[in-house]
Amino acid sequence: MKRGHGKGRGRGGYGRPAAGGRDAGAAPGPAGAWPGGRPPALERFSQNFLVDPNTSRKIVDAARVGAGDAVLEIGPGHGALTTILAERVGRLRLVEIDRALVWALAERYQDEPRVEVIAADVLEVGLEALLAGAARWHVVANLPYRITSPILFALLDVAPRLAAATLMVQREVAERVVADVGTAEWGTLSVHCQRLADAAVLFDVPPSVFRPRPAVMSSVLRLQFLEAPRVSVADEAQFRRTVRAAFGHRRKTLRNSLMSGGWDASEIDAAAARLGLDLVRRGETLTLDELAALADALPIER
Ligand code: SAM
Repeated sequence: MKRGHGKGRGRGGYGRPAAGGRDAGAAPGPAGAWPGGRPPALERFSQNFLVDPNTSRKIVDAARVGAGDAVLEIGPGHGALTTILAERVGRLRLVEIDRALVWALAERYQDEPRVEVIAADVLEVGLEALLAGAARWHVVANLPYRITSPILFALLDVAPRLAAATLMVQREVAERVVADVGTAEWGTLSVHCQRLADAAVLFDVPPSVFRPRPAVMSSVLRLQFLEAPRVSVADEAQFRRTVRAAFGHRRKTLRNSLMSGGWDASEIDAAAARLGLDLVRRGETLTLDELAALADALPIER
């Protein structure tokens, strides 16, 4: 992990990078400015920057963070949300993969000890490491859309360390997170998010407030993490495996989906009999409570 505050010359060092070497792991390039003062947006990093201050303010307002809070911002970019967050919160940690942007942020906040800039790929460095130093964190982000799902699942893995996450995501991802059971959107993301958090879509955001404009509509999603999971299970890995199997084959019956998940027919029949569960149902019709009960009733593969 490369970390910089103060003069922006922390362990990683933040020489101005060349345009070709902007990944967090890349070596710094020679000094030199980009035409127009800003490096070109990189598609591979899902760089769709917010250019409407009202939208930025609305997102930060929705995060409901203040002087007593520690905030992790994933992908600060040019600082559309960062600038407002830095005025409001007690502690702000930024994790950004693009060294060109890290360099500029480290310069901007060099005299601001409450703001820490980390040059890293959020998925590689891991959220556990990023949440060191405070008991509970708020996460605020206009997420890189290419890796929205992996980031959401990574956030769920550290849910006990999080107070809330206020996230801009593609609208269809937000709809999946808050979906009702039995709908086409109800899936693994809905189950795991709703088990660990109160999830709400706060408002939609049109492509016109980004540069470059994304091809999709966006929504701001808020996950308010619960003190304890809404439904407890005996074994977390077993629950994840059961949910994956139940939703893995959407047109199959629950019995066939679970068999594809590795359980044999007698194990499945015994668990279903104990729960009074109809195995002709489709897996995606199961509620959170039913999925938890099923996970507990099926044998754990060790
Ligand atoms: N927060 C800024 C805004 O709202 O204008 C930028 C948002 S832009 C949609 C996504 C940001 O995430 C970019 O700055 C991009 O470089 C950064 N990013 C992309 N992949 C990343 C990763 N794996 N780890 C950390 N940052 C990443």
